[in-house]
Amino acid sequence: MKTKYIFFTGGVVSSVGKGVTAAALGRVLKERGFKVAVQKLDPYINVDPGTMSPYQHGEVFVLDDGAETDLDLGHYERFIDISLNRVCNVTTGQVYHEVISKERRGDYLGGTIQVIPHITNEIKRRIGLVAKTTGAEIVLVEIGGTVGDIESLPFLEALRQMRSDVGRENSLYIHVTWLPYIGATAELKTKPTQHSVRELRSIGISPDVIVARSDVAVTDDLVEKIALFCDVEKRAVLPMVTAQVLYEIPLLMEQLGVGDYILERLGLEARCKPDWTEWTRLIEEVKREKPSVKIALVGKYVELHDAYMSVREALKHAALATGVEVDIAWVHSAELEKGRGWDLVEEADGILVPGGFGSRGIEGKIQAIQFARENKVPYLGLCLGMQLMVVEFARHVFQSDDVNSTEFDRSTKYPVIDLMPDQRAIADMGGTMRLGVYPCELQPGTVAARAYQTDLVEERHRHRFELNNAYRDELYKAGMRFSGISPDGRLVEIAELADHPFMLATQFHPEFLSRPNRPHPLFVAFLKAVREQADVHIKQPIIEAVKVTV
Ligand code: GLN
Repeated sequence: MKTKYIFFTGGVVSSVGKGVTAAALGRVLKERGFKVAVQKLDPYINVDPGTMSPYQHGEVFVLDDGAETDLDLGHYERFIDISLNRVCNVTTGQVYHEVISKERRGDYLGGTIQVIPHITNEIKRRIGLVAKTTGAEIVLVEIGGTVGDIESLPFLEALRQMRSDVGRENSLYIHVTWLPYIGATAELKTKPTQHSVRELRSIGISPDVIVARSDVAVTDDLVEKIALFCDVEKRAVLPMVTAQVLYEIPLLMEQLGVGDYILERLGLEARCKPDWTEWTRLIEEVKREKPSVKIALVGKYVELHDAYMSVREALKHAALATGVEVDIAWVHSAELEKGRGWDLVEEADGILVPGGFGSRGIEGKIQAIQFARENKVPYLGLCLGMQLMVVEFARHVFQSDDVNSTEFDRSTKYPVIDLMPDQRAIADMGGTMRLGVYPCELQPGTVAARAYQTDLVEERHRHRFELNNAYRDELYKAGMRFSGISPDGRLVEIAELADHPFMLATQFHPEFLSRPNRPHPLFVAFLKAVREQADVHIKQPIIEAVKVTV
């Protein structure tokens, strides 16, 4: 079968869930027996989001092959349960980088290099690579931003050309818009949608399907109005009301009949009947009332929850498997340093320190980890959360405050976390970390091995620093267990404390491999420990009350 392409553009405003729409539709098509892949085209000039602040961009999602990508790829992988690769996230930066390098090599034989055709050809080449490298039969391509942005023009032009390149029957354009609600008159407005469709038409793309997102129910006459003004069939207007549960969206789409409509338009026949039994059970479980546990997520970018998207999702997935509701308390580590926010940590049934970079708030995280260790509160550390667990434990073992990661103090007396020799000479910041999947051997009899129920796993990484092997013996003697080690024995991948109900941390990022129907074993083990311990532990604040002397 010839590869089919579905292109997603956005209109009116951004952040209305274009990524989730593409992901959910991917699932709807996969349920009909097709192999799908999703690609995100990001119009910004950065080569990848790896060097961007999470405040700007939210989480950086890491793929198996080590690509640092947009967080929408996380949605795609979780909804469709697939593993994507490097070609599935393209940025303007990558496209220009490639074209300019070719020009410098003389590959264009003296030609003048222009946006059309050189940049658009490179974009199309990259779209073509998705089917080649993933074997997908249906490729969904989402373009970031909204129609009308200057940056996205070359991408839209490439998408326009794709229709004549691959044929009308092999391509479909889906435009995702927003219907604003006017409180004063209690009505939804379609005018911005009409305008954005007109704008899209002016660059030569006529949408085949319109996804009209809104916060309130969309009446049938509005659907008809959109169909009429935007010149699409009524069946092709999908009113998508903001869902209570994210993972409900594929089911809502199914109810709207979108899967069958799209197959019809692409001249395909479903290979099997979609089976939503497991998915429906999942949603029922989400909606069932469950005892709630509080997890303090101690981080640096907590104001922006998107910065910890996969961690939050992994907690939710594991919560479904353990029969609890997770209530996340977002704790700013720099605030803890000032003595604020400790009530959230003290009330929590479990503490989690996720990944991070830079020195701000480090001591606050270390204090929260100390609290977890001393009060036997279940703790899960991810990447930086492992490095700081090691620093905190070593400070206690060596009875010294002069213990650190060399990321934060180059001349520390006890550099328990340090660069590996092969990282020392690297000056470039972009794409030079230890990235992507690496194997990890689990040590029998440890909490990690019991959780995974296997002896070898592969997990995704994104870090520069490692546990310093010079301290392994001393830390081991004091009760730290290295429950996951790289097969060559050089790198500690998982550390845990022997004398604690659950104090475990990973150098890798398990959150990237968690799926709604396949929760990550370590997150499940963490929440099981949390559930068992809830309300059992004695909490003593580590910030001592000021002593008044008379
Ligand atoms: N900053 C640490 C490192 O580079 C941890 C990175 C992370 O948490 N992803 O090793």
